[in-house]
Amino acid sequence: MKMRICLWLLFLLGWTNGTGQDWNLDLDKAELEQHIRFLASDELQGRYTGSPGNRVAARYIAEYLRAQGCKTVEGAEGYFQVIPFESVAPPTNASLKIGETTYELGKDFFLSNGGATSLEGKAVFAEHGWIDEKAGIDHFAGLELQGKLVYVWSGKPGSRDPQEAFAASKLKRKWAAERGAAALIEVYRLPFPWQFLLNYLNRENLTIADPDNTAADLVYGMVNEKSDEPFESMKEGKGVLTKLETSGVQKQSRRSSNVAAVLPGSDPELKQEYMVVSAHYDHVGVGKQGGFPYGQDSIFNGARDNAIGVASLMLTAKALAQAPPKRSVLFLALTAEEQGLIGSSYFVENPLIPLDKIVFNFNTDGAGYNDTSLVAVMGYDRTGVADLIDKGTEAVGLTVVADPAPEQGLFDRSDNVSFARKGIPALSFSPGFRAFDQALMKNYHQVSDEASTLDYDYLYKYCDAFIRTARLIADHPDRPFWVSGDKYEEAGKTLYQRR
Ligand SMILES: [Zn+2]
Repeated sequence: MKMRICLWLLFLLGWTNGTGQDWNLDLDKAELEQHIRFLASDELQGRYTGSPGNRVAARYIAEYLRAQGCKTVEGAEGYFQVIPFESVAPPTNASLKIGETTYELGKDFFLSNGGATSLEGKAVFAEHGWIDEKAGIDHFAGLELQGKLVYVWSGKPGSRDPQEAFAASKLKRKWAAERGAAALIEVYRLPFPWQFLLNYLNRENLTIADPDNTAADLVYGMVNEKSDEPFESMKEGKGVLTKLETSGVQKQSRRSSNVAAVLPGSDPELKQEYMVVSAHYDHVGVGKQGGFPYGQDSIFNGARDNAIGVASLMLTAKALAQAPPKRSVLFLALTAEEQGLIGSSYFVENPLIPLDKIVFNFNTDGAGYNDTSLVAVMGYDRTGVADLIDKGTEAVGLTVVADPAPEQGLFDRSDNVSFARKGIPALSFSPGFRAFDQALMKNYHQVSDEASTLDYDYLYKYCDAFIRTARLIADHPDRPFWVSGDKYEEAGKTLYQRR
């Protein structure tokens, strides 16, 4: 009789686990709050990539994952995937003159590369500075670039896409440097405000040090001259004089890491496959805000962006470690998201696990929330896991809203897109909002994004939904894949050789 009851109990337990309806998550609201309050504390100084606060956050996450029994991954330094960052700050002094017009640094032009230089002479103009052999385009053909200051239109010919313009800029610098140019200045003609670009590029920026960069010494920048006239004159060979002086950009190496830890799967076959659970832990650091009447706060705490996500990742590791799902799970706390998704880009270019073994990226990131009945999912119905998200979310009494602000392009703005571009099915889980409105913007990248202003009853449910959904996907017999016609479907077919 006793035996029978035991079997019955075992059967019951097994059955509930198997259907994914209920687990002993042991999800502790106080612990969730503890992680968020620590990560978003003033002491961590906004977790700016490479800063001491950023590294303390990484250590905190790594030691927590170790304590849950997660393993290190081969190729990492312990739990850290160290990234060789380089910070580049604008020159303290620079001046630019084209013909009789003088441009002001930080207002009319900026320089983001190159050492101390003084150049004076006849300017060279090379259209878009573009080469496309198939189309018979070579804007540098017949021009003498050696030691010259070269002007080109910004962007890629025939394209108004900002992403393409940035990618094109990199190529132009390479081509100009290979032809011996001393400096390349792009003439601003992009479809977004000059001031926006200036704010973004005329400040300290982080990049990954690239030893193969042939344009490492090229002086590079952009000028906001609205008239075509001086450049038309250069094209006609009228001999426009130009003068550029710069004290040189200031470069410094910086160390920051992705945190990576694996929970091995429980199924002998499916454990060969990995789901990546990711959340970025960096934020934007300390600013110059504050002063009357807002007090002296200058710390961007990043509680919503993205201490919530990191705490959710940590508690997912704890919950899944209690009863590992069939697939292996790689917990990946990413750095430098705020610097342009650098941590996730670095991971997919230098994967610690072969990319074709990663079957899904389950990311969490957020600007905040303004509806505590919801979970917002970017990429909800794009990879065949919508019913699993519904199930995980409804179990805690929340409702899913799919990509509520399509105009913001949020799917392509967080780390999940680095995986998607490689073909890996991906999504981003966010706290609930129906629109990217004032209520959300109030805290987005503001010093007011503090842990003390959060609704922990709601976040408990959010985290619970995240954990449940993660488990359902990691356990599901079918691998997720892009729905037919998705913009990342082709990349997926290539990656997994599904042809
Ligand atoms: Zn974020």
